[in-house]
Amino acid sequence: MTKPRILVWYRNDLRLHDHEPLAKALKAEGDVIPVYCFDPRQFGRTSHGFPKTGSFRAQFLLESIADLRESLRAIGSDLILRQGFPEEIIPTLAQELGATTVRFYRETTSEELAVETALETALQEANIPAVAAWGHTLYHPDDLPFDIQDVPELFTRFRKEVEKEVKVYEVFPTPRSLPALPDIEAGELPILSDFGLDAPVSDPRGVIAFKGGETAGIARLDHYFWQHDHLKVYKETRNGMLGADYSSKFSPWLALGCLSPRYIYWHVQDYESQRTKNDSTYWLIFELLWRDYFRFICAKHGARIFRRSGLQGVSLPWKEDWERFDLWREGKTGFPLVDANMREIAATGFMSNRGRQNVASFLTKNLGINWQLGAEWFESLLIDYDVCSNWANWNYTAGVGNDARGFRFFNITKQAKDYDLQGDYVKHWLPELTNLPASKVHEPWKLLPVEQQRFGVRLGVDYPNPVVDLFKSAEANEKIYNAAFSIAGTQTKPKLRGRR
Ligand SMILES: Cc1cc2nc3c(=O)[nH]c(=O)nc-3n(C[C@H](O)[C@H](O)[C@H](O)COP(=O)(O)OP(=O)(O)OC[C@H]3O[C@@H](n4cnc5c(N)ncnc54)[C@H](O)[C@@H]3O)c2cc1C
Repeated sequence: MTKPRILVWYRNDLRLHDHEPLAKALKAEGDVIPVYCFDPRQFGRTSHGFPKTGSFRAQFLLESIADLRESLRAIGSDLILRQGFPEEIIPTLAQELGATTVRFYRETTSEELAVETALETALQEANIPAVAAWGHTLYHPDDLPFDIQDVPELFTRFRKEVEKEVKVYEVFPTPRSLPALPDIEAGELPILSDFGLDAPVSDPRGVIAFKGGETAGIARLDHYFWQHDHLKVYKETRNGMLGADYSSKFSPWLALGCLSPRYIYWHVQDYESQRTKNDSTYWLIFELLWRDYFRFICAKHGARIFRRSGLQGVSLPWKEDWERFDLWREGKTGFPLVDANMREIAATGFMSNRGRQNVASFLTKNLGINWQLGAEWFESLLIDYDVCSNWANWNYTAGVGNDARGFRFFNITKQAKDYDLQGDYVKHWLPELTNLPASKVHEPWKLLPVEQQRFGVRLGVDYPNPVVDLFKSAEANEKIYNAAFSIAGTQTKPKLRGRR
């Protein structure tokens, strides 16, 4: 009998721990050949012309690949690196190497699925079986109490049903050693300029100096849970915007699969039995459930998640006002909370969840600008970009997603006072407002000329006048929104301000 030779195609699962394709390949007691392809399409442009992978995420990706390669080398193997279309490279390589099987993790959204389908077809033609696993969520779709097509449109229903019935699997063991690779050129790790990108400039004001890779991801969990016990107060701190530890910051490692959600889940269970079990420890799992939920919603709705009319399929007359869009993305709207957050993402590739909700609400509900522009801008910049979490959250905030509850917008000024009472966050990113007292920093447009002089900030010169009136603009957009929904025959529900 021929010895099995299994090619493991790495994608957004850049780790050794809890890795089903790798663990199963190893169990087959043959050769195991880990491969990663840099797909040039990932470094192209979004439909509105932004770099699809900006330099923050590209850098994080390269670090993650370098870390994975090092870890594989440390246990006797290596990571083969190639640049090109995976659906061409993987089948060719599999044939050249005489692979008996190709294993990989399935993705969820259209571009990735198209690659998988083409790859599976090519492998089928070459008579090489492809085995795909599901692994980006806490819960396995086979265990859900409903078919993917019936995933509830309301998060709360989804959560209650899965929490009641579904168990999270144990993690797959981390391999301690792997067979050496056959004689093959391993390939060089590319550099950013190979993708036409400059190295990102590290901004010392950023919440964390994110470093890609499983090693750094595990170290972050160790820091947040075990060394500093931040988990036990997570629910109280998670809406913060300033500092490294108000929230877990696991998202970039989760997005590239350097951390598996099940690994986090089981660490929470250990933490609860060894240290404390409280609302905060539960809440981290609750947030991971949102992540699961959005992935299952994307699996259910396919390419609709990317359409301008969103999951609701409602045709809204979104504006493509590039002048105002530029003010938004450059952090020059005249609303300090929005501006500080937009400057943070531009300078670091990260923004808090509180910030994301506010800036997305402002773009869509106050400026009435096409939400797809915002989603693509985030796609380009975010170090933790995850197709499902990003596009489903944008659908949701724009009011065209699942769980839509009528026109809801964030009262930016109230949010700023609730979550940045002293103005420390906005001053961190908007130094021009440093001298303003806390009582005035969130509404600079109210400053009298004499106050502007006293605090050293001239409106319209040092800091912009507000681009819109917060309430009038929301009212106008609400009318447009309700009209579109009534034409579509959908009942709008009563207005609720703010969510979660
Ligand atoms: C408009 C918009 C776009 C977003 N785009 C992304 C994205 O591209 N990638 C991404 O990972 N998250 C996205 N989020 C969700 C959320 O903002 C980030 O996951 C979170 O800010 C990451 O910080 P953290 O790891 O410290 O989160 P924590 O508060 O520590 O939460 C722990 C984990 O739970 C998950 N999570 C928390 N909130 C959400 C949520 N609303 N939706 C899905 N998962 C969640 C994340 O995996 C996160 O790492 C987006 C939210 C909005 C409103």
